[in-house]
Amino acid sequence: MRIIDFADGDGVPAIGQGTWMMAEGHQLRDEEIKALRVGFDLGLTLVDTAEIYGGGASEELVGEAMEGRRDELFVVSKVAPSHASSLGTIRALEASLKRLRTDRIDLYLLHWRGGFPLAETVDALGRLRQEGKILMWGVSNFDTDDMQELMETPGGRACATNQILYNPEERGTEYDLLPWMRREGMPAMAYSPVGQGGSLLRHEALARVAGRHGVSPAQVALAFAIRDGNVIAIPKAGTQEHVRQNAAALHLHLEAEDMAVLDAAFPPPSRKVPLSII
Ligand code: NDP
Repeated sequence: MRIIDFADGDGVPAIGQGTWMMAEGHQLRDEEIKALRVGFDLGLTLVDTAEIYGGGASEELVGEAMEGRRDELFVVSKVAPSHASSLGTIRALEASLKRLRTDRIDLYLLHWRGGFPLAETVDALGRLRQEGKILMWGVSNFDTDDMQELMETPGGRACATNQILYNPEERGTEYDLLPWMRREGMPAMAYSPVGQGGSLLRHEALARVAGRHGVSPAQVALAFAIRDGNVIAIPKAGTQEHVRQNAAALHLHLEAEDMAVLDAAFPPPSRKVPLSII
């Protein structure tokens, strides 16, 4: 099992489980819950959700999936920017706790930067942490300059992570954001790591690398995302078969020859690229 350590907290598996689009009728609810539980059994014990996913339905589904095993799991949720005022953050957190049927969130993120001053949100997150309602906090969709501003904000250095879009088609952050986070000792979280199950998984380069290892293209994308030991990938899988594949990707190590194929198809950035966001 590959474990990533937060600077100020527990280690988590390098692959977790996303839940955007769950509980929205794309798959049977029971199947989605089963898929999450199979993932927990296989060591994908970090689960990522947000108050906005399905208008709270994703958090409710996660709460149901976690029943009876909360203590073995690491729950990530997010406050919407429109709620990220002093009082709004606290209210949003309380509502998330209810939907998740838990008394704490392990890692609570500001979903993206909005209109409220960073200092106000950071202060509210710090207070929630002191009360033990969240164990760590972080941000999402912050570019390097946002992270630098956060570090200069009172209390901002407690930020545990930045959750960003990262997969072979979206490598812009390799230029400065990911190196900056590594220097700061801050793990990154990679969202949409299998390109939302789209054209990335049909790309010839992924098929070639997958063929060398006898694995699937999605497993190659996941091994790519977590290869440097400072990234946690959070693929969403509503099917048990996909979850099993994703868990097995924890044991796939890409070699120089594999990276040469991927670099040729998806060249790493040679200059600053503004952060892409979904
Ligand atoms: P992903 O890259 O995780 O893609 C999910 C899609 O890929 C689903 O259709 C899924 O199918 C399919 N899939 C998963 N595993 C496999 C596999 N092994 N083989 C083939 N297909 C597979 O995209 P997401 O956008 O969902 O990102 C992951 C998570 O990141 C989200 O669920 C959410 O938790 C988080 N996120 C955060 C954002 C932010 O702003 N902070 C933005 C976007 C996402 P199926 O369900 O049928 O198994």
